[in-house]
Amino acid sequence: MERDVSAKIRLYVEHPLGQAQTLPLTREQAHYLFGVMRLGVGAHVLVFDGANGEWLAEVSQAGKRNGALLVLKQTRPQQMPPDLWLLFAPVKKARTDFIVEKAVEMGVSRLVPIQTDFTNSGRIQRDRLQAHAVEATEQCGATFVPEVGEMRRVGAVLDAWDSARNIMFCDETEAGARRGLPVVNGPWAVLIGPEGGFTQTERDRLHRLGHAHAVSLGPRILRADTAAVAALTLWQNALGDWS
Ligand code: SAH
Repeated sequence: MERDVSAKIRLYVEHPLGQAQTLPLTREQAHYLFGVMRLGVGAHVLVFDGANGEWLAEVSQAGKRNGALLVLKQTRPQQMPPDLWLLFAPVKKARTDFIVEKAVEMGVSRLVPIQTDFTNSGRIQRDRLQAHAVEATEQCGATFVPEVGEMRRVGAVLDAWDSARNIMFCDETEAGARRGLPVVNGPWAVLIGPEGGFTQTERDRLHRLGHAHAVSLGPRILRADTAAVAALTLWQNALGDWS
């Protein structure tokens, strides 16, 4: 499929896309396209809805608070990331935003905030994190927007776990040990702890699970945000869609 290089802006729209569709713009989208980016009628943008690939669209109406796009043609088919979740314990706000943004760029299909015994923050602003996931998807050229789930206790998440999904348990007590990722195909989740690490009770439970594999991320203790990127890199390299 031919890509239109004149269209530099990528926009996620919550509207099923198809040839010759007219897309109404939200107030924020109109403000961004016409107020910030100064586009006018006839300008080209790329749009995706998370399910039907990427499309070239043309501005057909431009107002201060509203507007519309006309969908011209598909520029990319829908592409799904690998069936990889990231389970992460939210840390400080900016670092949590970083984790979400980087995980989307690295290629995950779902983000699951978890509360562990030492989780720094008891609450998350899920809408804000989801907005970061959308922005990262727009920026990195992907067509699927990973969902940010509700924050849940790690114990409850493990109780309800489908054992067909392997867990890459990033265990800081393995730092420096030669514990790599086993090459097992199928659905996976990467599990990263909070700045305080996992408690012995949590670790014991994870070590008892046949589908959880404790791995080391090298000889140094990484911060949670670095650990998330490092773990996703290892997983993508061994089992993902990078090759
Ligand atoms: N406070 C803890 C470190 C927590 S680091 C301590 O001093 O031991 C935050 C999370 O990043 C950890 O829970 C783990 O999931 C991951 N992590 C960081 N460094 C790691 C390493 N070298 N190997 C495996 N996991 C690591």
